[in-house]
Amino acid sequence: MAANNEDLFKNLVSHCKEYGFVFPSSEIYDGLSAVYDYGQYGSELKNNIRAYWWNSMTRLHENIVGIDAAIFMHPTTWKASGHVDAFNDPLIDNKDSKKRYRADVLIEEHVAKIEGKINKEVSKAKDRFGEAFNEEQFRSTNPRVLENQAKVDTINSRFKDAMDASDMSAVKQIIVDLEIVCPVSGTRNWTDVRQFNLMFSTQMGSVSEDASSLYLRPETAQGIFVNFLNVYKTGRMKVPFGIAQTGKAFRNEIVARQFIFRMREFEQMEMQYFVKPGTEMQWYEFWKTTRMKWHRSMGFSSDSYRFHDHIKLAHYANAACDIEFMFPFGFKELEGIHSRTDFDLKSHEAYSGKKLQYFDPELNESYVPYVVETSVGLDRMFLAVLSHSYCEEKLEDGSERVVLRIPSFLAPVKAAVLPLVKKDGLPEKAREIMAAIKADYLCQYDEKDSIGKRYRRQDAIGTPLCITVDHQTLEDGTVTIRHRDSMQQERVDAAKVSVIMYDLLRAPRID
Ligand code: ATP
Repeated sequence: MAANNEDLFKNLVSHCKEYGFVFPSSEIYDGLSAVYDYGQYGSELKNNIRAYWWNSMTRLHENIVGIDAAIFMHPTTWKASGHVDAFNDPLIDNKDSKKRYRADVLIEEHVAKIEGKINKEVSKAKDRFGEAFNEEQFRSTNPRVLENQAKVDTINSRFKDAMDASDMSAVKQIIVDLEIVCPVSGTRNWTDVRQFNLMFSTQMGSVSEDASSLYLRPETAQGIFVNFLNVYKTGRMKVPFGIAQTGKAFRNEIVARQFIFRMREFEQMEMQYFVKPGTEMQWYEFWKTTRMKWHRSMGFSSDSYRFHDHIKLAHYANAACDIEFMFPFGFKELEGIHSRTDFDLKSHEAYSGKKLQYFDPELNESYVPYVVETSVGLDRMFLAVLSHSYCEEKLEDGSERVVLRIPSFLAPVKAAVLPLVKKDGLPEKAREIMAAIKADYLCQYDEKDSIGKRYRRQDAIGTPLCITVDHQTLEDGTVTIRHRDSMQQERVDAAKVSVIMYDLLRAPRID
C-alpha cells in the first residue's frame, strides 16, 4: 500500500500498465519520451470521456456544432496564428546536472513555495482562532503574510515585464536573484535562458525540391478558425454560436514528465464560441461557470478544483484562466478558458485576403466576432479521472483490494457476467444474460477462478456492476448484482437487469 502521494502516483502508473490502460509508446524499443499508447481499457475510458464532452457541448447547447478538421494545415495558418513567431517556451539548462528546465516553471514553483508558507500561516491562525477567524482581515494585516505576499507580487510583476519584453536575460536574472537551485545537482550553475519553439515540422511532397514544410498542429483551435465561414454559412449559425472539436495536437515540450500530464502528442477538446464584440466578458464568465459545472458533474470532491487567473496573457487574449485540478503532484492546469478577442479571425483575414465576418441581421452590419475558447486536454482529463478513482483499500476481513472508483457512466467495462460455477447449466444462463445486454454496453463474460478473484479483477478495471448467476437463478430467474464501490449485493429479477443498468450508467444531468 502507498505511504504517500508520490507512492500512490507510482502505483497508479504501474496499475495503468498492468491492467491495459496506458503503455509507454513502442515499448519493445524502450519507449519514446513523453509519448504513450492507450490499451484496451484506456481507450474505452478515453472514448467515454471524449463522448461525454462532445455530447455536453453539441447536445446541451443547441447553438454549438462539432467538426473534425485535418491535422495538417496550410503553413500560413501558423504564421497568421502567431505560433511561428511566438509559440515559445523559455528554456534553461543546469551545467552540472545537464538537466533542462522551463525557466517560467522554475519561477512559478518558487512562487508556489512562498504561497505555501502564506497558506500555512493562514491555516495555523484558523486553528487558533476557530469560529472568530476573519481570513480576509488576517491576510491584509498579518506582517509575515504581508511580507511574503509582497515577495510574490514583486516576482510576478518582474516575470511578466521580462516576458512581455521577450527579455530572456531578465528572466535569468530573476532565477539568479531568487537563488533557485537545480533540484538534481543542487547548484546554481545555469546557462542563459533561450526561447524554444514548440512546433514539430515535417515535409509534404515526395520530391525534396518541391516539398513544403508543414507543422503538426500544436492546438486544434486553428482548424476551427479557418472553417469559421464554412460552418457559419452551411450551418445557418447565428451569433453567439460555437464550434467544437476534439483531436490530436503536438508540442515538442521541453520538459515532459509526470506520465500523461505533459505529452508530446496529446489530444485536446476545444470549443470556440463566437460572440458580438463587447459581450465577450459576459460570455467568458458564462463559460467559466459552465465548464466548472461540467467538471463537478464527475462527482469528485469540490475542493479538487480551483480557478487560476493568468498574469501573463498570451498574445491573443484579453482575459484567461485555468481550471486546475488536484493531481497527486499538486494543483495543475486541466483546462484553459481564454477570451481570444478577434485576434485569430482578423489575422486570418489579413493573411488570406478573405473576409471572415458575420452579418448581424439585427444591426444590419458585418463584424469580426470575438471569441471565447474552452480548451481541455483529454489525456489530462483521463489522468484526473483515474487519479481520483484509484483506491488502495484495506477491507474489514484484513484483505486488500485495488479499486478504480471511476464514475460509472465513464467506466470502460460496464458489467461482468459471472456464472458461479462452470457447470450445471449456469454458463448457458449467464451467456443468455450477456447476449441481452452486450449490444448496449461493453460487458465481459468471465467463468475462470473463484468468484472472489473475479470480483477483484473487475474492481481493478473499475467495472461498476458484477452480475452473478447461481443455482437459484435457474429456479426463480433472479441474479445477484454486486456493486463495485460498496461491495453490496442485491438479488434482482434477471429481466430487470437492463433497466437497472440504464439508471445506474447514464450520464449525469447538468442543469
Ligand atoms: P501548460 O501551461 O501546462 O503547458 P498550456 O497553457 O500551454 O498548458 P493550452 O495551450 O491552454 O495549455 O492547452 C489547453 C489544454 O491542453 C491544457 O489545459 C491541457 O489540458 C492540454 N495540454 C496542453 N499541453 C499538453 C501536453 N503537453 N500534454 C497533455 N495535455 C496538454
